[in-house]
Amino acid sequence: MKIMKFGGTSVGKPQRMHEVATLITKDSEAKIVVLSALSGTTNSLVEIGNCLSVGNKKKATENINTLESHYRNFVRELLTNEEYVLKADTILNEHFEFLNIITKISFSDALSKDILAQGELMSTKLFSLYLEQQNIDHQYLPALEFMCIDEHEEPRLETISEKLKDILKEYSSKTIFITQGYICRNAKGEVDNLKRGGSDYTASLVAAAINASVCEIWTDIDGMHNNDPRIVEKTKAIEQLSFEEAAELAYFGAKILHPTCIWPAQQENVPVKLLNTMQPEAAGTVITKEAGSVGVKAVAAKDGITVIKIKSSRMLLAYGFLSKVFKVFEKYKTSIDMVTTSEVAVSVTIDNDQFLDLIIEELTPFGLIETESNQTIVSIVGNEIAQTKDVLKQLFDSIVSVPVTMVSYGGSAHNISLLIPADYKKQTLQLLNKGLFGL
Ligand code: ADP
Ligand code: ASP
Ligand code: MG
Repeated sequence: MKIMKFGGTSVGKPQRMHEVATLITKDSEAKIVVLSALSGTTNSLVEIGNCLSVGNKKKATENINTLESHYRNFVRELLTNEEYVLKADTILNEHFEFLNIITKISFSDALSKDILAQGELMSTKLFSLYLEQQNIDHQYLPALEFMCIDEHEEPRLETISEKLKDILKEYSSKTIFITQGYICRNAKGEVDNLKRGGSDYTASLVAAAINASVCEIWTDIDGMHNNDPRIVEKTKAIEQLSFEEAAELAYFGAKILHPTCIWPAQQENVPVKLLNTMQPEAAGTVITKEAGSVGVKAVAAKDGITVIKIKSSRMLLAYGFLSKVFKVFEKYKTSIDMVTTSEVAVSVTIDNDQFLDLIIEELTPFGLIETESNQTIVSIVGNEIAQTKDVLKQLFDSIVSVPVTMVSYGGSAHNISLLIPADYKKQTLQLLNKGLFGL
């Protein structure tokens, strides 16, 4: 059994949904099809939630109405049979009535998650209806019946696996299953989600849960590129990546993959393929245990980084200092991406400054604390790059004009990370494209 995940743009137009139906019926292998919301929908739902959270019901209602007319038009192009258009309208009535009711009751965090779930619920129900109209036999699987996270917001893979296997047993005659990406239930049993871009994570978790033959991520580009195609003009698709390389790229900003979506597939050794819905014949990128080749493969950039510098003469010759510093970050569940130390100073970077003030307060007794936000981590990722000849020289020669404020090298065999002010991101990625890839 395989997993086929289609992202927002892959289902964002009626024509694209028709093409997805063709893609999932191309071979006879049993499959679980994971769908995102139509492109733009989750952004609209976020906006609706934001309006309601500040009490702006009028703006929320306007946004709901705009979204509703988009869906009403969508189903009229998606479906040709009048009976099915009526069925689709009934589905839309249910979801938009729900959204409209929410504007009238008091807002909460739990409600905002309910709002966000509407996108994936609608896309899968409409797609299922289209398959029905086309007489394509399939089974609709509500993700909320098996996808779950624990009190730390971590997926409960064992439970997901048990529940999903039980459900699949019930439908042993079916070969096509349709389910939602992104949404899940939390430890309290409420509707929750796997964070933005989380449908990739769903796909990988489902792939691991059932030990799938492959986890195919279908999107709007022909695989992982060597650089960010939104910023750099000439980029090219990478044929093969190891799980480790793909995980580093995803974590350090390659938007094509959710930051933590690789580990479940890696844990169960399920190959991941990145494929293009608009160009299905393209080879795409294959992610497996093997890296395929040695050397630098790609660069990625992660924004919204804050650096915290702790200067302390007490650090000199003292043991246990770093451990005390790290405990503060652990206490506030704030993960550290980069660390550099000298005899009298340590600098760390974080990507979540929710508890920054409290962290600074607790670090102050250790020494002088300075922070700087609006930084970017640029990561150079590949296989055994630390051993690759001249890579450091090439790297620094190509970005002489960039003020690099931190470097992390040697921590992993797959990554060299640089910290730069966010304003230099575009320039750095462009220079690296020339310097490291000759593009
Ligand atoms: P989906 O809606 O299918 O999940 P996303 O928008 O989340 O698609 O991810 C695909 C997009 O990721 C591409 O259109 C591309 O602009 C962006 N992207 C950023 N970095 C990379 C990269 N290194 N390789 C490929 N795509 C990338
Ligand atoms: N629809 C969700 C989002 O836009 C999840 C996803 O598309 O992966 O973030
Ligand atoms: Mg995505």
